Amino acid sequence: MTTSSSADRPVLILYVGGTLGMVASPRGLTAGDNMDSRLRSALATLPPTRQAHLPAFVVEEADKPIDSSAATASDWQRLGHTIAKALPDYAGVVVLHGTDTLAWTAASLAYQFQGLDRPVIVTGAMLPLEAPDSDALANVELALHFATEPRLQEVAVAFADKLFRGVCTRKLHSEAADAFASPNYPLLGERVGDDTVLYPARGLEAQQRGAPRFELPDYAPLAAGGVARIVLWPGIQAWQLAAWLEDDRVQGALLEVWGGGNVPEDPALLGMLAKATGEGKLLAAISQCTQGSVAIGQYAAGQGLAEAGVLSGDGMTPEAVLTKLVHLLAQPMDDRERRRRFLTPLVGER
Ligand code: ASP
Repeated sequence: MTTSSSADRPVLILYVGGTLGMVASPRGLTAGDNMDSRLRSALATLPPTRQAHLPAFVVEEADKPIDSSAATASDWQRLGHTIAKALPDYAGVVVLHGTDTLAWTAASLAYQFQGLDRPVIVTGAMLPLEAPDSDALANVELALHFATEPRLQEVAVAFADKLFRGVCTRKLHSEAADAFASPNYPLLGERVGDDTVLYPARGLEAQQRGAPRFELPDYAPLAAGGVARIVLWPGIQAWQLAAWLEDDRVQGALLEVWGGGNVPEDPALLGMLAKATGEGKLLAAISQCTQGSVAIGQYAAGQGLAEAGVLSGDGMTPEAVLTKLVHLLAQPMDDRERRRRFLTPLVGER
């Protein structure tokens, strides 16, 4: 891809599915089409001064837009390829995505687009574009503004007047328009009155330099359950862990443990984790707490995790850890390098 200035090019809007473009059907909301004309009609209802500030854009729709609850790692890969191919011709890209797994897609795209030199903004809406009091139009307008901001050189999520680092974002509310947050990283930007404000010192552009080094590995072999997400509960047993980890199809797992990085001091349970890492499975732990980090080994109750070879996910989100495990496991590298790269911040995720 080119690294020349691109701010004078149009923005590409890609509709891959989700409530924003959905229409009513006898079975409930389902993905609609005609997004180009529907978006232009909606944007034409903005006050003229705000319309005048919109960038030129081109709209493309996925062949089969989906409800994002059906997305898999193969969808992340397909989207990554589509964007990478289109990127040189556009100032930036806006992905219109279902909110349910929007944060997972944003995190995955961040790993695929390391060294990105322009904005890729993911957004969606809690209500369809044409619904009364919909948040869709405001989210699209916000995303379009940030998609032409040359100082924004990363994957970000624009939602409810806020701009988040994509790989740090989570959906935390199932109904409110203000559904997203990045619990361990400050906003990259926000709407203030009629203006959008970017905080460039918080952006990846200021934190990492270098030429684009996109990695677009084949996620398909991992898309059918290759990485598991295991959330601890009081009383979890080794046999229950074994049901996940002893399956050959599982190559890695995200463990969501207690507080600052604790697990029960149960030799059978810890033995099961050690056996899995000994077999080359990539295991990483984060806290079940939404905010804060893990410091594995700070308590005796966490020492076993370190001894079992479980990697610390620090303050990463579940979305950021699981998509990073997929990304690393999809590439030909030895276990040592994979573990080293997991512990290295690649795109500001830790
Ligand atoms: N189920 C929808 C989806 O994620 C929800 C939404 O878009 O808000 O596609």
